[in-house]
Amino acid sequence: MSLERPNTELFVAGRIVSARLTFTMSNSSDTPPDLSHKLRSLPSVDRVLAEPALSPALEQWPRSQVVDAVRAELDSARALLGNGAAAAFAPADIAESARHALNGQLQPSLRRVINATGVVIHTNLGRAPVSEAAAQAMSEAAAGYSNLEYDLDAGERGSRANHLESLLQSLTGAEAAVAVNNNAAALYFVMAGLCAGREVLVSRGQAVEIGGGFRIPDVLRDAGATLVEVGTTNRTRASDYAAVMHRDTAAILRVHSSNFRIVGFTEEPSLAELRKVADRNTRGLPTLLIDDVGSGCLLDSRQFGLAYEPRPQDSIEGGADLVLFSGDKLLGGPQAGLIIGRQAAVNRLRSHPLMRVLRLDKAAIAGLSATLQHYLLGEAVDTVPIWRMIAAEPEQLRERAGQWCSAVGAGEIEPSDSAIGGGSLPAETRPTFVWTLDTPHPSDAARQLRERAVPIIARVEHDRVILDPRTVLPGEDAEVIAALQQLLGNNA
Ligand SMILES: *Cc1c(COP(=O)(O)O)cnc(C)c1O
Repeated sequence: MSLERPNTELFVAGRIVSARLTFTMSNSSDTPPDLSHKLRSLPSVDRVLAEPALSPALEQWPRSQVVDAVRAELDSARALLGNGAAAAFAPADIAESARHALNGQLQPSLRRVINATGVVIHTNLGRAPVSEAAAQAMSEAAAGYSNLEYDLDAGERGSRANHLESLLQSLTGAEAAVAVNNNAAALYFVMAGLCAGREVLVSRGQAVEIGGGFRIPDVLRDAGATLVEVGTTNRTRASDYAAVMHRDTAAILRVHSSNFRIVGFTEEPSLAELRKVADRNTRGLPTLLIDDVGSGCLLDSRQFGLAYEPRPQDSIEGGADLVLFSGDKLLGGPQAGLIIGRQAAVNRLRSHPLMRVLRLDKAAIAGLSATLQHYLLGEAVDTVPIWRMIAAEPEQLRERAGQWCSAVGAGEIEPSDSAIGGGSLPAETRPTFVWTLDTPHPSDAARQLRERAVPIIARVEHDRVILDPRTVLPGEDAEVIAALQQLLGNNA
């Protein structure tokens, strides 16, 4: 029996031998091939290096890298022959494989993609794209020196914590603020730094998994705090908290149900009610009221026809001691976790050893600072990309989808919904218009769009390919049109 596999990729010892090799595999019951003859027939390294396919590589790469790549392909071929493959490896084939392997190393693994899914905060696609000003600030911070930990007035060592604090104070009314790597880190930090060895009260409906295995009960346990579940999954009252409070209760933790909704017969106490419960502890260390609001929505989401998404400033006003939120969800900035609230609590965190472990890097500080300034100037709806996308009116989107449609001369425009996504406003959508293509193989079409130099991520629904202009950035329309023209040309 032999197996013909033209135009395939062969994985040997973890390497791709070639995208172009045509070979025949024989199984072990066949007569063993004359192995030593076959091995002798493999070309030499120099013979492969002389192939025209490798001349560009020899100009671009250090010669030693090209030699290593050729050797690796020859090793793979040798291993294949040793395993009984009845294949002939021409120098050109080995050269082509080596070229392929070298090019693969120059293709960055993390690449820009065009998000045509309509999901605004798409966690798999990197959550929030930052504003132009934020991107520029991040690039400048990365490419040069900065006063990251230098006090320019005094000419001496300063603190990296200072860069964001006054912006966050102005925007939220909080006394103090500190920034860490992400909101998961913020929660872990607050638990480990302020609640370890003591009890933390969490409503049963909030002892949840936030995503990617980030589970509230596990985080608390790992941080050394003792979780005390309060009430029931759907209904928890202030009196349930009061019943289990004692002088040594470290905190009442409220966790926003970012990625799910419990609907129907439900009840959770307000922040003001929880404040009263926390204040009953007048004898021990104060019981902190901690609010993990998740998405960091500084604007009023109702203004955009969406459900109310808790705002950090409302939680501060409502009496929370500490409020936690992400930088890259509805704040629309780089990845970060922000902790705002009482000076004393923030000071304890700043002097905790974990501060150094979890601290934010300079590029994120620069991007976040530029992002927060957009809110301060009242221009966030126009400058922060996720808000511009959320605010886009269906008519504008119909027009863009219409332009795609007439440019490619195919497809249809249909009303649909864009999701906000990304662990914020789970059930919330905004009306949109999408470009759709009815094709016999929609997944193939979606794959062709994904395989482009700049991949385009589309939706496949009801046997159709769907592209939503809402999440396609303003400068990307021409790329989308070119891709659709090519797609239709390929499949004509
Ligand atoms: C998203 C989210 C987190 C985790 O935030 P990251 O920035 O992804 O680490 C924590 N808590 C809530 C309520 C969230 O919505």
